[in-house]
Formats: sequence, C-alpha cells, structure tokens
Amino acid sequence: MNKTKIIATIGPASSDKSVLRKMFSAGLNVARINFSHSNHEEAKEIYNWIQELNVEEGRNVAVLGDLQGPKLRIGIVKADQVLKKGDKITITTDECEGDVSKVYITYPEFPKDVAVGDKIMLDDGKLILKAESSNNKNEVKAKVIQGGPLKSKKGVNLPNTKISLPCLTPKDLADLECALELGIEWIGLSFVRSVNDIKELKNIIDSNNSPAKIVAKIEKPEAIQEIDAIINETDAIMVARGDLGVEVPMERVPALQKMITRKCIKYSTPVIIATQMMESMMESLSPSRADVNDVANAVHDRVDAVMLSGETSVGTYPVQVIRAMSKVVKNQESHNNHEMEEFLPIEKKNDRYISDTICFNACKMAEQVNAKAVMTMTHSGYNAYKISSFRPPSQICIFTNNRKIMNTLSLLWGVRGYYYDEFVSTDHTMSDIKNIIKEKGIVKDGDMVVNIASMPITDKGMTNMLRLSRI
Ligand code: PGA
Ligand code: MN
Repeated sequence: MNKTKIIATIGPASSDKSVLRKMFSAGLNVARINFSHSNHEEAKEIYNWIQELNVEEGRNVAVLGDLQGPKLRIGIVKADQVLKKGDKITITTDECEGDVSKVYITYPEFPKDVAVGDKIMLDDGKLILKAESSNNKNEVKAKVIQGGPLKSKKGVNLPNTKISLPCLTPKDLADLECALELGIEWIGLSFVRSVNDIKELKNIIDSNNSPAKIVAKIEKPEAIQEIDAIINETDAIMVARGDLGVEVPMERVPALQKMITRKCIKYSTPVIIATQMMESMMESLSPSRADVNDVANAVHDRVDAVMLSGETSVGTYPVQVIRAMSKVVKNQESHNNHEMEEFLPIEKKNDRYISDTICFNACKMAEQVNAKAVMTMTHSGYNAYKISSFRPPSQICIFTNNRKIMNTLSLLWGVRGYYYDEFVSTDHTMSDIKNIIKEKGIVKDGDMVVNIASMPITDKGMTNMLRLSRI
C-alpha cells in the first residue's frame, strides 16, 4: 500500500464506469473533476460513479472539484495565424474573430488594469507580448517579443498586472453550488492571490453547512508573497506548476515546489504536486525517464499526493498511467528516508496543545519500538492531519463513523480510513479496531501497535490518551 496518494483528473478518456473501476484498482485515491471542462451534468455523473464504486470496491476515493477561477483567454482566431517578433497587435475587449493584427481577450477590465511594459503571455507562455499603450477603455496595443502560432481560445497569463477580477467569478459560484450540492469533499481554488480569497470561499462553504475542504492552488506570484499565511489558512495546497511556470520564470518552479512542500509538512497542511508529472504517457505506454524522476523526486520529498491532468482526462492510457505512477511511488517509497518529521514547537496556549502533543509522541513511540501501526478514532479528522504530517514510518489507521470524512482523508500521506461506529467504551473500541486491522492484514500476531484516544470515549472530546500494546 502506497503512502503517497494519486489524484487523477476525469475527462472524456475516463468518463466511463468500467474505466474508472480499472483506475480504482490501479491505485487511484482522489478523482478530480475540472470545472474548466466538465459541466454540471458530467460532474454529477462522475461523482455518482465514484460513490457507487466506493461501495462496490470497498474503497474511499475522494472527489476534488476544481474551480476555474479568473483564468483569462483569447477568443476565436482565424486559421494559420503566426505572430513574428516585432509585430504589433491590438488586444481588444470587443468580441471579434482574431488574426495577427487583432485578438479578443475575455477580461473587460484589461485596458484599465494593464500598465505600459507589462508582459502578456499567451498559450502557456509560448508567445510573449509587451503592452505598449492602452486607451483605458477597450484596446491595448502590444509588441511581439517572442512569436509563434496564434491559436483560438488559448490561455493568457499576466504575471506583472494586478488583476482586478475576483477570485470567484460568477461561473465559479455556480460551479461551487453544484459541487456543494453533490457533496464533493475537496474544492480547488485556482489563481489564489491572497489569504482573503481562501477566507471568502470558506465563508460560502460554512454558510452552506458543508464540510467541504479547500485546496489552494499556488500559481500566482502574489500567492508566493503570502505563502505562510495561505498555508496556515487553507486545508491543502496544490503546486499548480502549469500556470505557476508561466507566471514566474519556469526555472524557479523546482525550488518553489520544494520550499512549499517543506512549509506544508511543518504546518500539517497536505500538499499536492500537479501538472506534467507523466506527460510523456499521453500517447505512449512508457514514460520518459525525466517523468519517472519527477514523480520519484516528489515522493522522496514526502508530498501527500501526485496529480495527473491530461494524462487521465484526454490521454490514450488513463489506466496504465496510474499503474506506472503507482509503481514509481512504491519503489521510491522503499528507498525513502523513514525518519519522522521534527516537531514544530506547539504553544501551550493553543487549544489543541494536548492532542497535538499526544499525536507527535504516538508517532515517536511507534518509531522507537518499530510499531506496525498508529491507530485512532476521529470525529473531525483533525488527528489524521496531525499524525500524517509527522510522516511516521508505521501505518496510519484512522477509524471514523463519518464516511465523508473517511473519503476526505484519502488525500493525506499514509492515511488509511476505516468505518467504525461503536462507542461503548475505550477498551471495547481499542480491541475492536485492533481486530479490524488484523483481519485486513495490516498487522499480525506479535506486532506492536500504538493507540491514541479520547477518554471517556462517550464524550467524543479531544485526544488525551496514548497506549502501546501487542497484537
Ligand atoms: P489547471 O491547474 O490544470 O486548472 O490549470 C493546474 C496548473 O496550472 O498547473
Ligand atoms: Mn492552473
């Protein structure tokens, strides 16, 4: 059983229950619905298949609904348009069919927000323009710095421009409503610029009485400026390397990926590495050595999850790519550093002081006696985040009577969720859950295990007890 989790984007290549079933057995932990491409009807169909397969296959795969955010695009462009270095082009907010002299942008405030000299990057940064003048109304004139084919509907990135669009566009609000109605466990927020974007989304989720958690996608330079506050506020982070590598120079992305990973582990915030991880398998059955290395590097750094985008949504081999990724994960994990993460000193005035200390020492004890598993009951999932973030060498077995939480936790490093709903006494629960993991083959007679719990169990309070025992 891999500790690093696998997220796969569902799209035309995988929107089929029998393909999804194969993806489950290949090692899928989280299914991503990308609202940039999937409509509400498709989202509902995918979500329902995942729920059916969880029951049929005895699994707890989570769903991540990814909101598009203020993604900018150009409009339709005539065939065979090629921009050359030094060309001048007008970017207009009036819809039109574009060519080398004029192109439409889906961002009405662009002429007001842009400053002379700002970079305008098209098509994942393949084309680079520079703003030369604006009429502050509907047109910006730009000069081509790096040319190439100009194609319809390609993305626009404005790394230097302070974009006045809100983080949640009207489309995102409608998609969010759909996601919350379905009961999607994780909501992805694209182009996060400030910690307030996360607070805003959290408010909407709370006012809908939804337990959904937030994945903040890091793909703007502004987010890097506030990275500590964002990691603290959000429930999880995604290093969204596609847009990030256009918004900041691409050569900075590897160091940023490592910096963000380190901080996330310290703050007990799950971290996902996304985009082009197995791109070479889009149309081929064998990955490039560079892709294999990229996945292994993330596993080595002990990220929570690695993600597939086009590989599983539009690629030719949606099942085989998960199988290949899973093999890389498994092999790299067997060579990983098995030392625990250091303990970030907890302030005594923190109201989680007791449970945080118990979680850390449960992992420390498990490491010391080479225990096979750290086990706990959870009502909120909190302990699972904590225990996982210490990256203990043992298995992490989490028992809960809430299936939504069980699914949600599938994203976290090393966490195995099990359903359990009896609350007779602490002794009763501990012997029950030991039997369950023995039956599942996680432990065998003679293995050491560490239990943490809250006493008395009927109070469902904070974790305050630690026990070491033998199966
Ligand atoms: P996207 O996000 O696939 O929604 O663009 C990921 C990325 O930018 O890397
Ligand atoms: Mn993106």
